[in-house]
Amino acid sequence: MTRCYNFCAGPAALPEAVLETARDEMLEWHGAGLSIMEMSHRSPEFVAVAERAEQSLRELLAIPEDYAVLFLQGGASTQFSAVPLNLLAGKNKADYVNTGQWSKKAIAEGLRYCQVNVAASSEESKFSTIPAQDTWQLSDDAAYLHYTPNETIGGVEYAWIPQVDVPLVADMSSTILSRPIEVSEFGAIYAGAQKNIGPAGLTLVIVRRDLLGAADTKCPAMLNWETAADNDSMYNTPPTFALYLAGLVFDWLLDQGGLSAMEQLNRRKAGKLYAAIDNSGFYANPVELASRSLMNVPFTLADAGLDKLFLQEAEAAGLLNLKGHRSVGGMRASIYNAVSEGAVDALIAFMQDFEQRNG
Ligand SMILES: *Cc1c(COP(=O)(O)O)cnc(C)c1O
Repeated sequence: MTRCYNFCAGPAALPEAVLETARDEMLEWHGAGLSIMEMSHRSPEFVAVAERAEQSLRELLAIPEDYAVLFLQGGASTQFSAVPLNLLAGKNKADYVNTGQWSKKAIAEGLRYCQVNVAASSEESKFSTIPAQDTWQLSDDAAYLHYTPNETIGGVEYAWIPQVDVPLVADMSSTILSRPIEVSEFGAIYAGAQKNIGPAGLTLVIVRRDLLGAADTKCPAMLNWETAADNDSMYNTPPTFALYLAGLVFDWLLDQGGLSAMEQLNRRKAGKLYAAIDNSGFYANPVELASRSLMNVPFTLADAGLDKLFLQEAEAAGLLNLKGHRSVGGMRASIYNAVSEGAVDALIAFMQDFEQRNG
């Protein structure tokens, strides 16, 4: 078996130790006589797995008691609707910041439910910047402010947390667990699992409890955060295998030293990849220095005619999924928690060799 280095933006690399545990437990989970996938979600065994996953996540992120943790389905994209349905609370306006493709999708969905005030946008800079907060045009009757701390496609990330008077809502799909965060600064945080949490099919919501209970009467039960909280995320069948695997990832992160240790490692990984790009005359990254993503590193080659060869040779060298998003082209290396420093070193060595032969 040869496992390659995987730089996929999502579904993304998972820690090898987690996959090994899942393999070892696949046919029979902890002497239970069956696989975790075949177990009732209401069995004491599975309920314990789900509770432990929540506990480990609470420990990793130091989630305060007055926040509910919800394990849902539908991906981050479903939360684009769930956010207004749960948080408008009788108001008819919300503020959004537009920093890229995922912001735009959240805005498009928000528009189905309310007036959207785009308080700031970096579209003019082709989403290579984060608009400074003193330029934002906030409305005085917004129910919440929504933003995207890390734009997975553009590779642009906030190095700061916005300060607003309304609940702050963050789509953290591609940045969550990459470093510690101050959860108490947020009204709600959501994330699809398939970047830094676990396999696809699971969606995480962390919401301040005082914001629950105000959902629109037309809000489907499946999108109602209060319903999920009241039922310990088991209003219907949760994605049991994905939740089990996420729990293994959380415990793996705790074993690695938690999120401060991950932040150090992630800064080192991103630092050396950006340095390799900046120090070459051949590769380039368009994002302003202060807003470069720790997790998603887009880069272009001096001659786009070489893109295909680069990708072919990278794949032959065991470096997978480096093609940039179809909307921006070029390359993108996603270097989530489960992508080792060794993987980043191998990518840099390949890039330097490719430049020498083709630059
Ligand atoms: C991947 C991603 C999404 C979409 O996630 P799904 O789970 O596929 O709906 C939304 N926002 C961001 C920032 C993402 O990276």
